[in-house]
Amino acid sequence: MARYVFITGGVVSSLGKGLASAALGALLQARGFSVRLRKLDPYLNVDPGTMSPFEHGEVFVTDDGAETDLDLGHYERFTGVACRKTDSVSSGRIYSNVLEKERRGDYLGKTIQVIPHVTNEIKDFLRVGDEEVDFMLCEIGGTVGDIEGLPFFEAIRQFAHEKPRGECIFMHLTLLPYLAASGELKTKPTQHSVKELQSIGLAPDVLVCRSEHPIPEREREKIALFCNVRKEHVVAAYDLKSIYEAPLAYHREGLDQAVLDAFGISPAPKPNLDKWLDVQDRIYNTDGEVNVAIVGKYIQLEDAYKSIKEALTHGGMANRVKVNVQWVDAEDFDREDVGERLSGYHAILVPGGFGERGTEGKIKAAQFARERNVPYLGICLGMQMAVIEAARNVAGVAKAGSEEFDHEKGEKRFEPVVYHLKEWVQGNHKVSRKADDDKGGTMRLGAYTANLKEGSKVAEVYGATTIEERHRHRYEVDLKYKDKLESCGLVFSGMSPDGRLPEIVEWKDHPWFIGVQYHPELKSKPFAPHPLFADFIRAAVDTSRLV
Ligand code: GLN
Repeated sequence: MARYVFITGGVVSSLGKGLASAALGALLQARGFSVRLRKLDPYLNVDPGTMSPFEHGEVFVTDDGAETDLDLGHYERFTGVACRKTDSVSSGRIYSNVLEKERRGDYLGKTIQVIPHVTNEIKDFLRVGDEEVDFMLCEIGGTVGDIEGLPFFEAIRQFAHEKPRGECIFMHLTLLPYLAASGELKTKPTQHSVKELQSIGLAPDVLVCRSEHPIPEREREKIALFCNVRKEHVVAAYDLKSIYEAPLAYHREGLDQAVLDAFGISPAPKPNLDKWLDVQDRIYNTDGEVNVAIVGKYIQLEDAYKSIKEALTHGGMANRVKVNVQWVDAEDFDREDVGERLSGYHAILVPGGFGERGTEGKIKAAQFARERNVPYLGICLGMQMAVIEAARNVAGVAKAGSEEFDHEKGEKRFEPVVYHLKEWVQGNHKVSRKADDDKGGTMRLGAYTANLKEGSKVAEVYGATTIEERHRHRYEVDLKYKDKLESCGLVFSGMSPDGRLPEIVEWKDHPWFIGVQYHPELKSKPFAPHPLFADFIRAAVDTSRLV
């Protein structure tokens, strides 16, 4: 049976709870334990799949096709453990399960209430797979005191109460604000936050305090006394230059020791931190830098492309160079000249996206990269735009476009080189969708196999001819145009096993131009950079040497 760590936050949001959870997972692994991380989100959406990236940041997709919170990306990047559908839940999902059971008559005429029906549903979720790992780390989204969060807090209280003593601990993240005028770190908000937790029956065992300044011994003692936490279990979390320092930094501050101590695990097995020392070394001991432009639509919120940004950093680490990412708004090309805006970059990446807005700019970016021999990585929509560009400007299909844009406008303007996919094969069964299906969870989602063409660039990059990557899209490049495009030099170098769905395209006579229908960024790790990102950055380094 797993031991449980429940991670909550207080005082303010955005304290880096997800990162702290992920770093703790990495540290427990470094001490030889197996871990799984889980996120419980209080919002009422059934999943973040339908939320705007502006609102919620990127949607992270798991192998088994769940659309989840971007914190799951952190979990995977730090622990290398692939998350599953059962590692992410929201109030919306919990309530929808409860209501479904109610309609089915599962509760046998009972009145349905938050306690026990909703809390039981949450507890069932927490228990899934608890026989598989040593530690289950469960992060509760939001901050203590949020109305929507209450059933989750109540459920973890009950859960810990029902388990034998010492099998669950609570870790709480807070902020110590610094008052410049008096030169002091203030502990009062932390005290209040812990009081709030205590009022719902939860007592933290470990307190993680975010602070911009070193925490003096006196303040640490004060926090320990007022919050009823041992002094050694008050752990400082200082700002870091790179998130990948977090495991080492938390280790220095004694987080893993405090957690094991709270469980009574003594003596604690010694950690092996070699992996994280190497990661740190690769971040700070670099030789040169490259400038990469991401031409996207959601650039106001960098979290919208979180995994891409991280995967580029990993690509830099693989080549020991610093990667400077510049966000370029695709809509700028409505006004500005692409050449002027994009020259000087050593590589161009066009990420995924939905809807027509900004797509003409992305097409121009693909054209610029093709004509000027600049390394180009097109991801999902970025691949589709590269194909449309090839069709329009090389293969002479003047009105080439995507059905997605016509659907949005409700009129027929384009020749659909990219069409709405309504039927495909997943494993050994067929999946079908109608044009007017609900928006939530109806895309081609999760891991699919692709076969790579022998001798192609991607086969060389992956060092394999069969790969598995994660998808999240509705539209697909139409095979009808394959021969025409291939005769112009755009190779369809990756296909679904049944040969029906193009997964990868690449320009034959280009130093590095690859478009992929899937999301390679989701599988990249700092200690195992994704081959496409590693090689994309290698190509960028080559370009930087030419200039
Ligand atoms: N909008 C496109 C589609 O649905 C691309 C999706 C994406 O980039 N994730 O196919």
